[in-house]
Amino acid sequence: MYHLISDIIRQSEENECVFWEIVQQADADERGVSKEESFETMRKMYQAMREADEHYDPKVRSASGMAGGAGQLLHEYNETGENICGDFVGKVMEKAIKMGESNACMHRIVAAPTAGSCGVIPAVFLVAEEMLHLSEDQMVEAMYVSAGIGSVIAENASLAGASGGCQAEIGSASAMAAGGLAYLQGGDAGQIADAAAFALKNMLGLACDPVGGLVEVPCIKRNVAGAVNALTSAQLAMAGIKSAIPADEVIDAMRRIGNEMPSNIKETSLGGLATSPTAQKRIV
Ligand code: SF4
Repeated sequence: MYHLISDIIRQSEENECVFWEIVQQADADERGVSKEESFETMRKMYQAMREADEHYDPKVRSASGMAGGAGQLLHEYNETGENICGDFVGKVMEKAIKMGESNACMHRIVAAPTAGSCGVIPAVFLVAEEMLHLSEDQMVEAMYVSAGIGSVIAENASLAGASGGCQAEIGSASAMAAGGLAYLQGGDAGQIADAAAFALKNMLGLACDPVGGLVEVPCIKRNVAGAVNALTSAQLAMAGIKSAIPADEVIDAMRRIGNEMPSNIKETSLGGLATSPTAQKRIV
């Protein structure tokens, strides 16, 4: 069992195994299943992410009318070759926004770690699988890496915007995706932890201020920010750059910041963007 990122790193060293295997073993122990059964359950989660991405509907709009169609616009823009972010990042942006829209439009998504942040991990992972020519088994392994990071955040801070602000949702998703991507690029446990720490540090203090109380504005586009932040954070770690603050201390800081945030920017829609003049006009 583990409670901290440093526990996972230490246990992987003691047991001469890799980061994801510690998370898999803990899941198997906790649920009373074999490691193989645990792996197949995780595989189904990843496959559900892929299916959700494939079933994006460019024509559907949310009940409020605020969400839908942006993923298609980004797709068309990417097709022109004018997105200066390049093919990899352009595709990640597109998948992140599509998944966020699918959630707002009540389509099936995988809430990992939450529905509001559901676009971050699949955007990074599905594009990495395609562009880096990875196997599905490798993707499932990366899902365990993400799950381990998410579990530690859930235990020591929060994954809910209502208690920790958006840093807890998009921030956590970004950290989970960054760690997973570092693993997929051959990163060791220390690099996984550093990637997660970089991603989370960049998201500290982010307000949860959904317009009209709907997980649409700014949530959908924040998935793009979280996904691209995960990409750059993983690259920092893979370059050998170390986080000045260890991942566990970043998570601890996130909890303290969340506790100190006023309630009007913790999913109550009583502050931030939710009370901007334009937001007020859109929801009456
Ligand atoms: S703004 Fe709030 S509801 Fe929207 S994604 Fe962030 S935490 Fe979730």
